[in-house]
Amino acid sequence: MMKSIKAKLIAMYLGLVMIVMIVCGSFILISLQNIENKRAEEQMRLYTEKIKEQVVLNYEESGFQDGLIQFTQNGSNTSQIQGNIINTDGKTIASTISSRSALEDYRNSVIISALSGTEAFSQKSRTEENGDIYIEYAEPVIVGGDVKYVIFTRMNVSSIYESIDQTRRMLVLSVAIAFVLAAVMGYIFANTITGPILSLSTKAKELARGRLDQTVKVNSDDEIGQLSDSFNYMASELSNTLSEMKKEKNKLEIILHNMTDGVLSFDKSGTLSHCNMAALELLGTEKVEEDLESFINHYDITSGVYIDMVDSKATKNVNFWVGEKYLNASFSPYLSEKDILAGVVVVLQDNTEMKRLDEMRKEFVANVSHELRTPLTTVKSYAETLLDGALEDRETAEEFLTIINNEADRMSFLVRDLLQLSRFDNNQIDLSLSRINVDSFISENVKASKILADNKKQELIFTPIGREVCITADRGRITQVINNVLTNAIKYSPEGSTVKVWADEDEKYIRINVEDNGIGISKNDLPRIFERFYRVDKARSRAMGGTGLGLAIAKEIMERHGGKITVESEMLQGTKMTLWFLKNITETDAEQE
Ligand code: ADP
Repeated sequence: MMKSIKAKLIAMYLGLVMIVMIVCGSFILISLQNIENKRAEEQMRLYTEKIKEQVVLNYEESGFQDGLIQFTQNGSNTSQIQGNIINTDGKTIASTISSRSALEDYRNSVIISALSGTEAFSQKSRTEENGDIYIEYAEPVIVGGDVKYVIFTRMNVSSIYESIDQTRRMLVLSVAIAFVLAAVMGYIFANTITGPILSLSTKAKELARGRLDQTVKVNSDDEIGQLSDSFNYMASELSNTLSEMKKEKNKLEIILHNMTDGVLSFDKSGTLSHCNMAALELLGTEKVEEDLESFINHYDITSGVYIDMVDSKATKNVNFWVGEKYLNASFSPYLSEKDILAGVVVVLQDNTEMKRLDEMRKEFVANVSHELRTPLTTVKSYAETLLDGALEDRETAEEFLTIINNEADRMSFLVRDLLQLSRFDNNQIDLSLSRINVDSFISENVKASKILADNKKQELIFTPIGREVCITADRGRITQVINNVLTNAIKYSPEGSTVKVWADEDEKYIRINVEDNGIGISKNDLPRIFERFYRVDKARSRAMGGTGLGLAIAKEIMERHGGKITVESEMLQGTKMTLWFLKNITETDAEQE
């Protein structure tokens, strides 16, 4: 089996040359031989005719030998032809080559058929004597209807055969030379065909290895040239397509990279194939588990997620905690073209905030229910007692009704505060801004709280700034804030303590400060006191008529004004509340929140 086209082409080429040379050579040789034979025959026939005319018909039988000698001497003889006259007994009676005494008798098929009386008979026959080759010819001389003599001629054709042989040798030699030349030519020819094919195949291999900048030189217009052209076209298209794909991939990668959702993908065998930065951040790790099974186990995600998903091919959502974060993972299987599971994409979302809000909502509902239940229970039990007969005792009845009235008040405060907060939440609050002189505003409120402070024998000290400083705010709501803060300071400070109130300013803010030296707030509680219903000491606060919503509302109001409320406190040392008002407040500042 010849493997390469080159070898096949060379073999074909050589075979062709061989066939042509052999056929032509044989044809030439055979024609040559035929021509030579014909010419010899012609000569012999002529020779015989001359012997017949000049010797046999001219001389008596006894004079035949002399006649033949005469004939040869006349120059009618050719060295290659030998003539003999044979009588009916088959005896040679005269010959051109020898004297009468040494006449040689010939007996062969040519002479026999001439003797048998065939009028003019000629036959080619080759005899080999001393390595010479002869052609023989015998013709009967018929006199009166009988064969009288036979003229037998022989011609030595060795030289002719020799020259034919030489021609044959020359032909063989030329075939050999032609063969070698054909081999060389074939090689060159095959190279011109296989060369480009070879280079094409090497370039194609390079292309397959990923080197896309492959071009083949197009040297000709033939089929191979066209093939090279097509190859170049294919390579450029391929490189375009690949770069297009690369671009798309990059785009996707950039999108994945910049997404806030974490994206992980696992292939069919469950091996991690992609993981973006957000996923790592959400999972709070630098390296994610390499396979889905251990990923699921590591984060303790509901067992069977994977199995379920493979079966149903539907997206599964799972929530789980990673440290402080509450994550939602949606496992979506993706299918191959044949609807076979090809892998799983996991999208991670940070649901901590949602979870927190949800918890807050639940807590809020629980708080509201609880806050309402306590006064309701009191109201109910006192009402029952009254109905059971306490009504008869006027004094007790009055006392009970006062309690019922107080509890109803408390419920109505609670509902009022809740309504206010809900309005803030729904953005249903419009501020009616006006310029308020800080000194006079504080002194009004301090005066109003004086009775409370007096009741607890506390000293309420207000230090005015002493110059015209104004804030732009909603007077009613700010009054509510400052009242709440003042009331708290008084409420959460022991009898005989001091509450200081003063205002100051920096470049950006005007501040109203309320400082007490009361019970203070612990570090743990401090960040939470602005939450709804948050109270450090629930029983105490409730006993003092607080709803636990005052500071939450104060915070909302301050933020609506573009300002804020802050607290500094030390356990058992005291608390300082600061209200911050923007100096150059504009409408947008106020309504930003
Ligand atoms: P409450 O109606 O209970 O006073 P607030 O929202 O006004 O509700 O206050 C929340 C909690 O913050 C209070 O229950 C109290 O524990 C704490 N608190 C507020 N002001 C002070 C203060 N000046 N000193 C100590 N604790 C305070």
